[in-house]
Amino acid sequence: MPKYIVVTGGVLSGLGKGIVTSSIGFLLKNKGYKITAIKIDPYLNCDAGTMNPFQHGEVFVLDDGGEVDLDLGNYERFMDINLGRDNNITTGKVYRNVIEKERRGDYLGKTVQIVPHITNEIKDWIRRVAKESGADICVIEIGGTVGDIESMPFLEAVRQLYLEEGSDNVVFVHTTLVPILKVVGEQKTKPTQHSVKELRAIGISPDIIVARSPVPLDKSTREKISLFCNVPSDAVISSPDVECIYEVPLMLQEQGITKHILSKLSLPYREAKLEEWKKFVEKVKNGRNRVRIAMVGKYTALGDSYISILEAFRHAAAEVDAKVEVVWIEAEEIEEGKKIEDVDGILVPGGFGERGAEGKIRAIEFARENKIPFLGICFGFQLAVVEYGRNVLGLECHSTEIKPNVKHPIITILPEQYGVEQLGGTMRLGSQPITIKEGTLAHSLYGKKKIYERHRHRYEVNPEYIDELEGKGLIFSGIAEDRIRMEILELPEHPYFIASQFHPEFKSRPLKPAPLFYGFIKASVENKR
Ligand code: GLN
Repeated sequence: MPKYIVVTGGVLSGLGKGIVTSSIGFLLKNKGYKITAIKIDPYLNCDAGTMNPFQHGEVFVLDDGGEVDLDLGNYERFMDINLGRDNNITTGKVYRNVIEKERRGDYLGKTVQIVPHITNEIKDWIRRVAKESGADICVIEIGGTVGDIESMPFLEAVRQLYLEEGSDNVVFVHTTLVPILKVVGEQKTKPTQHSVKELRAIGISPDIIVARSPVPLDKSTREKISLFCNVPSDAVISSPDVECIYEVPLMLQEQGITKHILSKLSLPYREAKLEEWKKFVEKVKNGRNRVRIAMVGKYTALGDSYISILEAFRHAAAEVDAKVEVVWIEAEEIEEGKKIEDVDGILVPGGFGERGAEGKIRAIEFARENKIPFLGICFGFQLAVVEYGRNVLGLECHSTEIKPNVKHPIITILPEQYGVEQLGGTMRLGSQPITIKEGTLAHSLYGKKKIYERHRHRYEVNPEYIDELEGKGLIFSGIAEDRIRMEILELPEHPYFIASQFHPEFKSRPLKPAPLFYGFIKASVENKR
């Protein structure tokens, strides 16, 4: 029977609850426990696929094609596990199931209510995911802040879960904020007290409190939280700001968080083996080769909209003793004449729609002509084909996503997308096999002929132009198993010019960088010298 760790949040959102959850999972996995993780998002969308990354951060894509909250990316990276779409529960998914059951007549004669029907659906879902994963422990993070209307049914469901599973099978971790008032320099515990009070009113008593604060908690602050919130003082864990998120598990471990969790769950304590991770953290923090990478995008104001790419930079940089400085460039500003200057590499990430597309094409042209290392991802891959079509083949071409009636539709809609009207969950999604040509850059990076990478797109290279493109020096070094879809392109004459229709960033992990990112950062370091 799996045991459960429930992570809730109080006071504010954006306290790094996802990183705390990921760190707990990482530590327990490191101690030899089999772990799975569930993120609960109380919004009404059925998945994150239809949400704007500028508002909500990146849409993360899983092997099974699930388009999910970016926290699942953190779970996968920290815990080094592969999750599925069912590991992300939203209010929309829960209600959709309950309404379908009601229509089918499953509740015949009953009044369908939030308690017990919605809460039962939530518990059934959690238990099913935990059981099917075969995990010893399932970590559940409840999104939002305690007290939000939207998260109420989920909190009620985990309260019932505690009652039904028994007190040594469920542990509650509550993350809060301890602000410091500038004038007096004092650590304030009142917001934490209030949020715990709110949680207890719902019937949940936290076993552990993780307090976020700019600096470590004073002894007196800890004791105060302990007294007012009814947790032992050594179960008040301090989580001060750190330079690198991968330090968080080390910091939590030092304060004995897993000792508390395992003893509450009546599981044996095991030593952690953290040497390798510590070395990785040192490498992330102290990379000696500084490289400046231009990120040419549309949502550059919000780092969270590219979180997996930024993490993939870190993983790759750690391998080549580098540290990446990201130079954010709004694609539209390039259209207005902004120059890309003083960078060691250029990345054009995935994207949708017309705004900024011409600026991205110019950035690609600049990288190609000036032999600056270039990595294009998804939309960045498609626009690299457009750039080559225009500037090398001399075609008046574009993607039909941007210009439906263009003379040469060099990027066009996937055949299975003809007639698709419903936009949620209908792109080509998730892990797909790719065959790599021997003797290419892609082959030397991956070191094998068959790879699996994650996708999220509706458009692709139009097969009618492949011969012409290849005739002029472009190589399609990765092709989908159906032999029709182009997956990787590269330019042999260039020090590093590679782009992929898939998203390599979704599979990059600490200690296992994504090959295309590894090659890109390495080439950018070499370009600098
Ligand atoms: N807009 C492009 C498509 O739908 C690229 C998508 C992406 O970059 N994720 O194919």
